[in-house]
Amino acid sequence: METKTLFWLQSGGCSGDSMSILNMDEPDLFTQFKHMGIEVLWHPSLSCLSPMEQDQLIEKILSGEQKLDYFCLEGNVALGPNNSGMFDTYRGEPKKDLIAQLAAKAEYILAIGTCATFGGMGSHANDEMQGVGLQFHHNEKGGFLGKNFRSASDFPIINLSGCPIHPKALELTLNLLIRGLPLELDDLNRPKVYYGISVHNGCTRNVSHEFKLEDTKLGEDGCLFFNIGCKGPTTRASCNKYLWNEQSSKTRAGVPCFGCTRPDFPMPEPFYVTEKIAGTPIELPEGIDRAAYLAYKDMAAAAAPDYLRKAHHEKTQND
Ligand code: SF4
Repeated sequence: METKTLFWLQSGGCSGDSMSILNMDEPDLFTQFKHMGIEVLWHPSLSCLSPMEQDQLIEKILSGEQKLDYFCLEGNVALGPNNSGMFDTYRGEPKKDLIAQLAAKAEYILAIGTCATFGGMGSHANDEMQGVGLQFHHNEKGGFLGKNFRSASDFPIINLSGCPIHPKALELTLNLLIRGLPLELDDLNRPKVYYGISVHNGCTRNVSHEFKLEDTKLGEDGCLFFNIGCKGPTTRASCNKYLWNEQSSKTRAGVPCFGCTRPDFPMPEPFYVTEKIAGTPIELPEGIDRAAYLAYKDMAAAAAPDYLRKAHHEKTQND
């Protein structure tokens, strides 16, 4: 397999995505890159180039002397304050300029994490950071590079959202690209291979959701949707298909899904609360008719099997 080069830049973010991919397992990140034939030109947590060597590397990429196959950006593009870009700099210059220059050279560009994809932290109204995603600002196309931008391989920015990114999202995407296999994207330019299902798919609490056996406080074993703020049904990601650290997921551990792959993350409402109107959640699973859904839920609650209802009742009483 031909060697491919990868350059990873951090911008307005917390390095959480780098921490997450370092947890890649079976195989680990280094073995994975080796199997895929990826040469990491630079990654802030993996490389030990001096600042001068790093500058030289960047110059070579920008001059075309060094080929760049995959440009990964972690963190949003900081336009603030007052559109100066000076909240995030590289060698005294706005880092956004370097991002634009590198983007112009790369065969494929991967936005790593929700900040790089949709803006994430520091991207909401009145935030002086003025963070934007590479090709989206929340769910609006455009972002930093503009909606018509294409990389050298005639591809839009590949959005790998998540706070942080799930290592599997990166692994599956790179594997398809490297093997020249089709990479299908959703309406937010995310690979369907990872973002094609919701967090609700595969959740071990699905049977409770089905019969509306709802938790009212943390530590119970029912569904977390109606009271505890779970956004699993409205969040596209494979967290309950590819488990975190090959072990678990938020909902399996009894924590609601916070919707971290969604373009509106982080949402203004508190994490552990389901916002309701007239006693029912404002936000229902995608594409559902509200009246039909609520009627069906009430009927399902009445039809809940005795063993499930009893087990849920005992759990809630004992806690
Ligand atoms: S806890 Fe969340 S993801 Fe799990 S079944 Fe309930 S709504 Fe779906």
